[in-house]
Amino acid sequence: MVLEQIIGSILEASMVGRFVSFLKKSEAAEDPVCHMQVDTKKAGGGTFEHQGKTYYFCGPGCRVAFAKDPEGYLSGKKGMKM
Ligand SMILES: [Zn+2]
Repeated sequence: MVLEQIIGSILEASMVGRFVSFLKKSEAAEDPVCHMQVDTKKAGGGTFEHQGKTYYFCGPGCRVAFAKDPEGYLSGKKGMKM
């Protein structure tokens, strides 16, 4: 009985741990302007919605550039201008 409880609680703890690490694992999205991988939970440049899709940016500069011409960046016609 007691052993079962201990095993049960260990199993539960490991499952909870796995669930928590799954939740903590942040998603990465590609910055459409500079093609950097951006953490969606802490995108330095914020987000921009275009045609129902959310884009994430590494910095405000990329967001501003994308907002001016989303199609240009999405079609690949435009690159990052330094
Ligand atoms: Zn960028």
